[in-house]
Order: sequence, then C-alpha cells, then structure tokens
Amino acid sequence: MRTVDLIRKKRDGGEHSAKEISSLIEAFTRGDVPDYQMSAWLMAVLWRGLSNAETAALTDAMLRSGAILDLGELPGLKVDKHSTGGVGDKTSLILAPIVAAGGIIVPMISGRGLGHTGGTLDKLEAIEGFNVNLSPADFLRVLREAGCALIGQTAEIVPADKKMYALRDVTGTVESPSLICASIMSKKLAEGIDALVLDVKTGSGAFMKRQQDAEHLANMMVETGRRMGKKTVALITDMDQPLGRAVGNGLEVAECLEILGGARHPLSEDLRSLSLELSAWMFLLGLRVANIEDGCKLAEEMIAGGKALAKFRQVCRLQGAPDFSRLPVAKFTAPFAAAAGGFIARIQCEQVGLASLVLGGGRSRQDDSIDHAAGLELHKKLGDPVQPGEVIATVHYNDPARLPEALRFLQAAYSIGPEPPAGPRTIVKNIII
Ligand code: URA
Repeated sequence: MRTVDLIRKKRDGGEHSAKEISSLIEAFTRGDVPDYQMSAWLMAVLWRGLSNAETAALTDAMLRSGAILDLGELPGLKVDKHSTGGVGDKTSLILAPIVAAGGIIVPMISGRGLGHTGGTLDKLEAIEGFNVNLSPADFLRVLREAGCALIGQTAEIVPADKKMYALRDVTGTVESPSLICASIMSKKLAEGIDALVLDVKTGSGAFMKRQQDAEHLANMMVETGRRMGKKTVALITDMDQPLGRAVGNGLEVAECLEILGGARHPLSEDLRSLSLELSAWMFLLGLRVANIEDGCKLAEEMIAGGKALAKFRQVCRLQGAPDFSRLPVAKFTAPFAAAAGGFIARIQCEQVGLASLVLGGGRSRQDDSIDHAAGLELHKKLGDPVQPGEVIATVHYNDPARLPEALRFLQAAYSIGPEPPAGPRTIVKNIII
C-alpha cells in the first residue's frame, strides 16, 4: 500500500494489519518515507488511536528496526528503568549509578527532551565531553567495565524510534499512549534486559494528565514487557510540580551530583526519595534484595559510602567526560517573583517545562540546538508560603531575547492562594502484575 493510503486509512479510523505497520516502519527507517508523511500518519494515530494488536505490531516493528543486544556474556541480571517523561525528572542520572554500584547491570538507552519534558541524553550532554552516541561494541565495553552505560537510540539500535522520537517532539504527536508505549518498550526490549521498572508520570507536567490515562499506559507497557518475557513493574508517580528544584539540563545534572554526593536539600527531597524507591525496585527485580525496604537501605548505603558518586564518575570517564563537574553556566540570571502573598496553591507544571524549553533547554524545531546552561532554579514548591515580591524561581539564560516569553510561561504556571493545597504525593500507585 502507498504511504498516503496508510495515512488515509488511519485518518478515517481504519485498523492496520501487522504487515502494513511493519512495511511503514521499515520504509521510514530506510529513508523511503519522508518526514511529512510520517508526521501526518503520527497525527492520525494520535487522533484515532491504535488497537492493542496495532500497538504490539508497532512496538515489534520499531524494536526490529535495529539490533537487539545480547548481554549474555555479562554475568548477572540486567535491569533498567524508564520514565514516561516529566519536568525536572532526572532520576535516571541518580539511580543508574546507585544500582550499578549495588551490583546490578544497568544498560540504559534513553531519549532526548520530548515536548515540554526534559530528556536524559540532553542532560548528560551538559557534561563536557559526555558521549551518548556509543556503538554497540563500545556500549558493551562500558557495561563490562562499569556495569552501567547510558546512550541514545542509534543508527544500529532502535533507529526507527530515533527518527520518530525527533519528529514527535516537534509535531505535537507525543501524547498518544500507543506511541509512547511503542517508543519506550522498543528501546527497552532492544537493551537485552531481564527486568524493567517503569515510572509513569501523572499530573499537570505529564503527558498523561489524568491518573486513569496513566494507569492505562502503565498497564499497556507492563503487558508488553511481560509478553516479551521481561519482569516489568510500573509506578504511577506525581508530576503536578517539577521534581526536585532544578529544571534545565546543566542545572539538573548539578542537582543530581549533589544528591549522589550525599547532600540533602529540602526542595530536592521528592527527587531523592523517588530515586531511592525506583532504585529499590530495580534491586528487587534484580534479586539483590528481598523487599523494597531493604532496597531503599541498599540505595542509601551506595550514596553514603560514596560508591554511587564514584560509579557516576567512572561512567562519565568511560563515556568521554573525565570531569563530571564541568557544567555550563549561563551568562545571566533573573528573578521570577510572587505578585501576591499566600501559598503556592497550584503549579501548571507543563508551563514550567515550556519556560525552560523557550530559554533553550528544549527544541521547537528538529534542528534547534540546546543551550545546556539555560533553565530554572526553584525556590518554592507546592504548599510553600510566599510573601509579595519574594523570589519563586531564578531564571538562568544566555539569550536575553528569550527571557520575556519564559517569564510569561512562569506567570501562567504559578497560582498563589490563601490556603496550601492538600499534601503533594510522590508515588501515587504501583502497578505490579
Ligand atoms: N519516553 C520515550 O522514550 N518515549 C516517549 O514517547 C515518551 C517518553
């Protein structure tokens, strides 16, 4: 079938056969389907949805667009974590070294910023020299040596996701549960893992704003993992405010280094505790501990004894960054101040992500370059009291022309009310099948 006929079929609500989906994905990966046709098909999928059979076929086609790694030569269980995406969501940089330091192999294939959310690859590239584009042989070499490696989709591994992900980022076609499921699970299944922990975000900064939609997505991904013989669990976690206190690539790495170094900051506690909890699940699925409590303790030990930070240093060195503290610093900072006094009653978290994106932390077009120094440092979280004129966030930027738009997004994001909201929740629900 011609690509235009596939687009029309999905536009009109038809169901694709597995063959139609695999032909489309193969042709797109080869470069025989232009971006404009793929974008049209993705938009049709976003509106019309995919059946379970179509989602399974898409996941399978994307997975088979490249190599599936065989990590059999590495002794021990391989476990990974993936988040559906959020604002200030940087747990991967904390938990990967924690879990590897605790003896589990963590082969992590991540993505770049997507829509208003940040991406692990863009954060890692804030560290001077860090190379996320390793060949499969180099990925294996780093894994063998450090027990952990962090890379992106490549021309060899899930190339279909590499191309589709970059298109979805700038065509408003992220928020489809089927596309998210296929994107995440194709990457994870290509890694050669034994088990997977999924962090499915819900709330104003998530792609799935409503909890029932997050649960639907979580179930879809857990089922996919199980069908492919991987132990898979999903945690539904809160994204009604940014995680931690930094949003923006370099600033987020600095916050992770602080946590890995054992420092505690009250506004980073949600990030720290979620990272420990996710690490604990990885330890549990990797049969390293018997329960989550022991997993949290082991994760804390990896931080307290300096092993997690040393592991991160080792991975950075092996991936081209001898000094992980070499992070970019923005030329300018500006305060974002409270217009009135009261309590931080609500945060439209997506608007906070967009504020960072327009400063240069994310992309509006595929060829946009990232400003790794740009972003936000938050001084207030949900429920905190504020005085009129008190600084809620410090904006870090290099391009003064971008500041007014970022401030407009922040103004739209924060609501100040006379009462604090009901206590924010970090982990909403666990889905374990
Ligand atoms: N993370 C991914 O890898 N893909 C998505 O579509 C969303 C989050």
